[in-house]
Amino acid sequence: ALSIGIVGLPNVGKSTLFNALTKNSVLAANYPFATIEPNVGVVPLKDARLTRLAEIFGSARILPATVSFVDIAGIVRGASEGEGLGNKFLANIREADAICQVVRAFGDDDVVHVEGKVSPRDDIETINTELVLADLQTLESAVPRLEKEVKGKKTPKELLDAAVAARTVLERGDTLYAAGAEAGVDPVLARQLGLLTTKPFLYVFNLDEDGLTDEALHEELAALVAPAEAIYLNAKLEADLAELEDEEARELLESVGVEEPGLEQLARVGFDTLGLQTYLTAGPKESRAWTIRKGWTAPQAAGVIHTDFERGFIKAEVVSFEDLDAAGSMAKAKEAGRVRIEGKDYVMNDGDVVEFRFNV
Ligand code: GDP
Repeated sequence: ALSIGIVGLPNVGKSTLFNALTKNSVLAANYPFATIEPNVGVVPLKDARLTRLAEIFGSARILPATVSFVDIAGIVRGASEGEGLGNKFLANIREADAICQVVRAFGDDDVVHVEGKVSPRDDIETINTELVLADLQTLESAVPRLEKEVKGKKTPKELLDAAVAARTVLERGDTLYAAGAEAGVDPVLARQLGLLTTKPFLYVFNLDEDGLTDEALHEELAALVAPAEAIYLNAKLEADLAELEDEEARELLESVGVEEPGLEQLARVGFDTLGLQTYLTAGPKESRAWTIRKGWTAPQAAGVIHTDFERGFIKAEVVSFEDLDAAGSMAKAKEAGRVRIEGKDYVMNDGDVVEFRFNV
């Protein structure tokens, strides 16, 4: 499964947030694939559509999609040179599919800031610099090697070109993700080169409670990280929420003027940043969300349930959640002509409710 690596300077609230995440983790019993390791939090993706499907189909249980977060300790200034847990840090980040930086934006004189002052801009810069330096180091050995290989016709020239274009971006101090398509570096090739800054980034700003409803502050912080997505939360509040029953949690949220818990936002935005979407299946046994990549076809989607489903795919019976919701039952949706039969070239939409037909 794809995962999001959580990074941040020391004392920004990373452990507090991660502890809250693991308290919200799914039960391993329902997700046997999710080997629960101490630094991995597998959190459910809240999805009101499943509740409605369970009502329509009388499902005994609900299984939401999940998002995996990995706590990656050890970034400090100099990590790219092996400072602190530098090398371990870089190895961990290499395995993550997206990078989520927790940034301190709360005051509190009792909590020491490693750089002496609270400055989201500087902290983001510090971490970006370490990642950019790590990528430059990778290229320092890769470019001469690729030059030789291209001469010997062992490697396509595109890969060398991508490496050289990436170096230009990185030498400016930019991450490849922020530089985006204009940089002319094919993300697939950049990944092949093992470059870290090509991974999608997202940001969690750890704010004081007052800051949670401060729109002007949010805009200011969003501007620091655009086009990456930003989430605004208070890590201590999230940790408290994780301890409470639903009703009490709702009251606590209301008292600080927030509608959606930060961790739910983080799961939703993280899932999207990974380029993932869900389709749904429903029946008396369970209503369930399945994770696929955006752009996947019906047979690929079927393969997530079982590889035999992909191999033996015949067709899919598909209705959008909205149409099914409006119709109120599968039979009525069929009567209304809302249930389509789709073939092997059908590209899945988020929220498709599906039944696959297949040969075994
Ligand atoms: P980490 O080093 O990034 O993992 O940071 P921790 O989660 O250990 O937090 C460092 C210190 O900051 C601890 O004393 C936390 O209680 C405190 N802290 C974490 N989040 C917040 C917050 O949102 N507000 C305030 N005031 N303190 C926080």
